[in-house]
Amino acid sequence: MQDEIIIIGAGIGGLTLARALEQKEIHFQLYEQADSFEALGYGIQVSPNVVRVLRELGVEKQLENISHLCLGFELRSFNSDKVLAKWKLDNDIPYYQCRRADLHQLLFNSIQDKNRIHFSRRLESYEEKDDRLSLYWQDSEPTAAKALIAADGVHSIVRRSLFPQHQAQYAGYAAFRAILPFQDKYRPLLAKATVWMGENHHVVVYPNGNQQQGKSWLNLVLVVKDRNWNEQGWTIPADKKAVARDFANKSALLKEILEDTIASPEPCFKWGLFIHQPLPYWSQGKVTLLGDAAHPMLPFQAQGAAMAIEDAYVLAKYLASERDIEKAFVKYQQARIKRTTKVQQVSRNNADIFHASGAKAAIRNFALGLVSATMPNLLNKKTAWIYDYDLMSS
Ligand SMILES: Cc1cc2nc3c(=O)[nH]c(=O)nc-3n(C[C@H](O)[C@H](O)[C@H](O)COP(=O)(O)OP(=O)(O)OC[C@H]3O[C@@H](n4cnc5c(N)ncnc54)[C@H](O)[C@@H]3O)c2cc1C
Repeated sequence: MQDEIIIIGAGIGGLTLARALEQKEIHFQLYEQADSFEALGYGIQVSPNVVRVLRELGVEKQLENISHLCLGFELRSFNSDKVLAKWKLDNDIPYYQCRRADLHQLLFNSIQDKNRIHFSRRLESYEEKDDRLSLYWQDSEPTAAKALIAADGVHSIVRRSLFPQHQAQYAGYAAFRAILPFQDKYRPLLAKATVWMGENHHVVVYPNGNQQQGKSWLNLVLVVKDRNWNEQGWTIPADKKAVARDFANKSALLKEILEDTIASPEPCFKWGLFIHQPLPYWSQGKVTLLGDAAHPMLPFQAQGAAMAIEDAYVLAKYLASERDIEKAFVKYQQARIKRTTKVQQVSRNNADIFHASGAKAAIRNFALGLVSATMPNLLNKKTAWIYDYDLMSS
């Protein structure tokens, strides 16, 4: 086999890149450490900037089939349950909410040549020497590669090798995630994302899946400020009763949702949220980073996977138009780093806004109330640089 471009990680970023490269007839091999895809069904918000890319990749119809259409947002006080702001989205392109596992499967299905995807292959290290790139695996012989694209997530082995002095840091927040079959009593939550914001806690709830096809769920993300995180692993089961106690507030609906979560046979898992300082560069020689490997961020703008998908599209575009891979990697990095750094910052700022207390919270609540009552479109203008971004013409 000729040396090919090697992608590490079949997450949302790696799979999108595989789809985009295949569309441009660029050869690649994709390696994933897991034995198969995780079947976790948690929700993911797919904003218009992403839908635009998925349309270009020819999978918008499939996305629509697995999604719930979000038309706006509602922000409530965690303490009083009072509505602080609500507004409608004003995009021509839809904003969807779907199950992560369904999006993953959709991207996987979109790749024609499945022989290019290899499971149970964990990259341990790599070496670039005398213009040769060698990849070393946990349980198999080394592979020579034409180039290495690391889409290996927040704890990326490749990023650690490029920047040994920097580690992803625990951000001081733990997230609990649960999913419930959609019930009629959740109807007030349809067609939007609802956020309860409070000093130490915030909760995001939104429906996902396709109501028309009878496949619909309610997705729940509960975030708490927690200074100490010393648990290891990705699927740490949470004590559901303790979570329900911790997040109880004045909302009768949220109370019911938490009770339903306790009664549900589905587990509720917890995650420590990790971030990384923005990196000065992502590409070195024949190696580059993509998605969370390049710019891990707090999920408080719901843009982590979105940025990975945008990265993938742009990287494929430069690999198709630039013969020299190293130049393509540099152009890709130049095109992406400013935007993703800004999204990382906004996501961090949102943590302070969501969890504000005292005078800061009072000012936030007043400002939100005023704007949403008098100029609700201002709230859309604030995110227009994210959602209205058109990669195709940028
Ligand atoms: C609570 C929460 C809610 C979120 N909600 C949203 C949302 O609504 N919208 C949104 O856009 N984003 C959201 N995100 C962010 C989003 O989940 C991530 O940004 C996104 O999954 C990153 O994709 P990725 O492909 O870069 O990395 P990952 O999805 O982490 O994929 C990395 C892959 O690489 C594999 N891998 C790792 N190391 C190796 C190795 N050494 N060898 C081989 N394979 C390896 C892993 O097994 C994995 O499959 C949320 C995140 C959280 C925590």
